[in-house]
Amino acid sequence: MSVLQVKGLVKDFALRTGGRRRLLRAVDELSFELTAGTTVALVGESGSGKSTVARMLAQLVRPSAGTISLDGEPIRTRGRGLRRYREDVQMVFQDPFGSLNPFHTVDHHLRRPLRVHRRAENRADEDRQIERLLERVNLTPAAVVAAKRPHELSGGQRQRVAIARALAPAPRVLLADEPVSMLDVSIRLEILNLIDRLKQEDALAVLYITHDLATARHFSRRIMVMYRGELVESGDADDVILRPRHPYTRLLAAAAPDPNRRLGVDGATVAPPTVPRPGPVEPQVAAVADQASGCRFRARCPAAMAACAARPPLLPVADGHDVRCWLYRDGTDS
Ligand code: SF4
Repeated sequence: MSVLQVKGLVKDFALRTGGRRRLLRAVDELSFELTAGTTVALVGESGSGKSTVARMLAQLVRPSAGTISLDGEPIRTRGRGLRRYREDVQMVFQDPFGSLNPFHTVDHHLRRPLRVHRRAENRADEDRQIERLLERVNLTPAAVVAAKRPHELSGGQRQRVAIARALAPAPRVLLADEPVSMLDVSIRLEILNLIDRLKQEDALAVLYITHDLATARHFSRRIMVMYRGELVESGDADDVILRPRHPYTRLLAAAAPDPNRRLGVDGATVAPPTVPRPGPVEPQVAAVADQASGCRFRARCPAAMAACAARPPLLPVADGHDVRCWLYRDGTDS
């Protein structure tokens, strides 16, 4: 069941350089849906616009254009409507150190959303819910953990508290913005497994934002790849990773450590090894004035051709699999 619908989402940021005002397009006409009990991964390099997408969905940043709908109803950005939306759509931030207030206890961090969203009948009910939230994220004994302040916890424990806080209003959508990128490698999998378990238990619609294709494939049903604010490829997670079509996705797939690649898991077709090397590093955000000037990847793309001077649309290459590249203009793999 579709829970959150995003259509034509755009975000422009104004930038002043040398006395001139320029608009930088961080997100360009992005459309997708999140469904209950399903994880969708949004993948891309730093600066590709993926975190801006999460912030718009969390209503921390106002979109320049486009619509965000919950259960088919465009969301309200003020008053009671906004509070109800925030109850349904919660976010886990990348930085478990900065997202918790160092002056407050874990108990305070969990009690506050219960009160703001009126989830408890009285203080005893709040206490019970706090205990339950901590148990759900495997922070026990709950009474001991609740009395601690963030500096008394490890990075992984802080992220568990942040996840428990996100669960407090009983949301239906969880936006996980690089939730493990600042944690030790040894505990990343534990946190991702925790989010996956909670997704199943609560039928959460999860948007998993990451630059890590391997975990995106493992934990997600669909993968969307962004480059310079644009969606360049989206489809079934296995199909995108094992048969990446867009030259940029091929670069990402080739760079991702994957012990199965050489083995050809289940006889699946593996991405061709002739993946081009990336071109020079370039600014990742596109100036609005550059938008119409063709494919944004063409400066780095070894397959660039004359047609690439025009901006490619998203083209279907398989059932539910779209690619923004002129190589697929006839609808088949080139
Ligand atoms: Fe490369 Fe052209 Fe495809 Fe862009 S449209 S990715 S430049 S082949």
